[in-house]
Amino acid sequence: MASKARRLSPALVVFLAILCFIVGAAAGFLGAARNNFLSPVDEYAELNSHGKGGSIHTSTEISGDLQIHFLELGNYYTGDCVYIKAGDTDVLIDAGSKTSSVPTISSYLDQYVTDNKLEYVIVTHAHEDHYAGFAAKNGIFDLYECGVIIDFAQTNQKPTATMYKNYIANRDAEIAAGATHYTALDCIEQNKTDFELADGINMKILDSYYYANKDSSGENNHSVCMLLTEGENNYLFTGDLEAKGEKKLVEMNDLPEVVLYKAGHHGSKTSSSTELLSVIKPQIVCVCCCAGSAEYTSTENNKFPTQEFIDRVAPFTDRVYVTTIFESDEDKTFNSMNGNITVCSDGEKIWVVCSASDLLLRETPWFEEKRTCPAAWQK
Ligand SMILES: [Zn+2]
Repeated sequence: MASKARRLSPALVVFLAILCFIVGAAAGFLGAARNNFLSPVDEYAELNSHGKGGSIHTSTEISGDLQIHFLELGNYYTGDCVYIKAGDTDVLIDAGSKTSSVPTISSYLDQYVTDNKLEYVIVTHAHEDHYAGFAAKNGIFDLYECGVIIDFAQTNQKPTATMYKNYIANRDAEIAAGATHYTALDCIEQNKTDFELADGINMKILDSYYYANKDSSGENNHSVCMLLTEGENNYLFTGDLEAKGEKKLVEMNDLPEVVLYKAGHHGSKTSSSTELLSVIKPQIVCVCCCAGSAEYTSTENNKFPTQEFIDRVAPFTDRVYVTTIFESDEDKTFNSMNGNITVCSDGEKIWVVCSASDLLLRETPWFEEKRTCPAAWQK
């Protein structure tokens, strides 16, 4: 039975209004105070606009038992350097972009690598923007004790090429000092593909056609490919593998859907094929490049990250991050785009921490000026 509404006296209305104001103000104050002390889990701010991967967030705190860091390299050149911290295990994938990047890389690593040992080093392929830091004098192999080195099985580099020669000499010195060495092909042939990095966190060297078969057209398809797994969450790293290598990768491995994909070949139009993306369906894509640099091309749409790459990734996610942005050729200047990008996981929740801006690629002024927004990102 409906009860008849009672009429409130004016005095009671004023009293209730004041009470509401006081309670509201107190709640606001407590909320503001709490914001200063939020744990990373509490601080999540939902970013995904496509309804998938609802457990991915942004935060300001680098923590969690799995951290994947995409490093800026201290110059206006494109290159890769990915540092993975899995519990107490340290993994370094590549050390580009120039030999002069080593101090930038080591000062970053030294915040996390407390015992001066990299348990695993992966050198994806013999291009300067990936292995310069290993070929350098006083480079990564000099600065850190390395446990296991996994590198490319094929190269077109001449044995006399200076950087290649220096890489081999430094690597072999590290092996002589006690490091274990496998090429990616050794891993496959010796059935040494799976490495437990920490409790519940595993690294798998994937099979790739161009470990056993040389690609005379270039180095990129020789890239060592790796899948990192924690529970149901997967993370894929393919170096500079290009479309024909990606096609073989899909055929030769039972690839899962992934939380994170390091954009192949710095967001080149020749990598991140739909054939690969439609299998892995990435939720986060990190691009290691100096956005808009004319280092490899003067064609605007083909500068990293390319329009074609963006168009192919867009149907799967808009959560695309880019390390660095090109400023000026004349002054050789660069700036942080997202800066150092860290994808963190506590085994359940995943969050992204950027040292500079948190903007997604599509939200950046660079994108608005230089790229055409794909239909999937216009929704
Ligand atoms: Zn590269």
